[in-house]
Amino acid sequence: MRALILSDVHANMQALAAVLSAAPAHDIVWNLGDVVGYGASPNEAIVCVRELNSVYVRGNHDRACCGLTSLDEFNPIARAAAEWTQAQLSQSKRAWLSALPQGPVTVGDGLVCVHGSAVDEDVYVVSVPDAVDALQAASGAWIEFFGHTHVQGGFVRTDDGWYVVQPEYSSAADSEYYDLPLRPGIRYLLNPGSVGQPRDGDWRAAFAVYDDEASTLRFFRVPYDLERAQKKILSAGLPERLASRLAVGQ
Ligand code: ZN
Repeated sequence: MRALILSDVHANMQALAAVLSAAPAHDIVWNLGDVVGYGASPNEAIVCVRELNSVYVRGNHDRACCGLTSLDEFNPIARAAAEWTQAQLSQSKRAWLSALPQGPVTVGDGLVCVHGSAVDEDVYVVSVPDAVDALQAASGAWIEFFGHTHVQGGFVRTDDGWYVVQPEYSSAADSEYYDLPLRPGIRYLLNPGSVGQPRDGDWRAAFAVYDDEASTLRFFRVPYDLERAQKKILSAGLPERLASRLAVGQ
């Protein structure tokens, strides 16, 4: 069984299209949330992910953009983008977003999907102490797949302690992948990275594929039509920073 793992698409249709055309054959999609927010193609991104055979967890932007939670905790740029998105979404898209399940969602034996963490859907797992809490809250999970930070990689707990997973790539231009072997007895917190707004210094769209026969998680980075995504953001009147940050992956 192969699962394509997508997170933080953020209404970037150009990145999503590149990911779907580069993705190897798979049986199911696990979508870790934040389909919308920031980017200029919220309706198109929802139509596209709805066509995939997916298990979903909702993200904080999904909640905010359909009106389930207030925008008070958003910074001014995120808030402006969420207000713009609310105005764009059709009634049926809003209803679809508001019905997305809250994580953790179990997707297989010992496999759990969350947006932020099993502690709370809005928590950012950025350090080993965060990871300790996140795995503790997902008792019985061998692998907890998470998003929200927009940083590809994660954390591993072995008998000797914890270490950080950071995929290594040789360029920042071509399509590349990095394999992480998955071993029994070790526990994992793994983030496929963000499809539509990477923040790990690599502008390329990020995703991952879980393969239970090979027992690997394959991380991918793929180039996409960045200029077009930026132009759409600017011509929509969204904050300029949302276009410029895509070029540097921050
Ligand atoms: Zn996000």
